[in-house]
Amino acid sequence: MLITGLLLIIVINPILTYANKTTHNNLTVFHNKTLDPTLLTKLDQATELLKASELYNPDLHLDICLNDGSKYPKLIRAIRGQAFAWGFYNKVVLQGNANYNENYVELNGYKWNLTQLLAHEMTHCLQFDKLGFWKSKPIANIPNWKWEGYAEYVSRQNTDQKDLSKI
Ligand SMILES: [Zn+2]
Repeated sequence: MLITGLLLIIVINPILTYANKTTHNNLTVFHNKTLDPTLLTKLDQATELLKASELYNPDLHLDICLNDGSKYPKLIRAIRGQAFAWGFYNKVVLQGNANYNENYVELNGYKWNLTQLLAHEMTHCLQFDKLGFWKSKPIANIPNWKWEGYAEYVSRQNTDQKDLSKI
């Protein structure tokens, strides 16, 4: 119980495991190394994608936790499993190796578009914000195709991807 409580406190307060935080509009970016301003551009692009969602809340504040030396992403990986990133509650936690200039996150040799990954995870935070703790995954038993499909629907808005919604 004590360990679970301690873990929860660390998970809710990323600042305990990061050296720095930078505020950018409604976002707080937690980082260990010097923040690359290119990431902020990607976060802005991701936020633009979110505005198309009916769940978008301009007042929502999100924590963006980078994978640049903090133990935080490792802790989330231990709890939730391996992934490119995780979005839950008001937090987006990057897990793979990010290349901001080339706009991708790499994990096990696979690459995911960074802007779309950020928008995908931020959409999970919008779902959480709208539905609440008990009606969100992983507490609520929502089918993956619905929960993940919605995040993909919001994040994949490139012109060559939009055709999907026209079929
Ligand atoms: Zn997802």
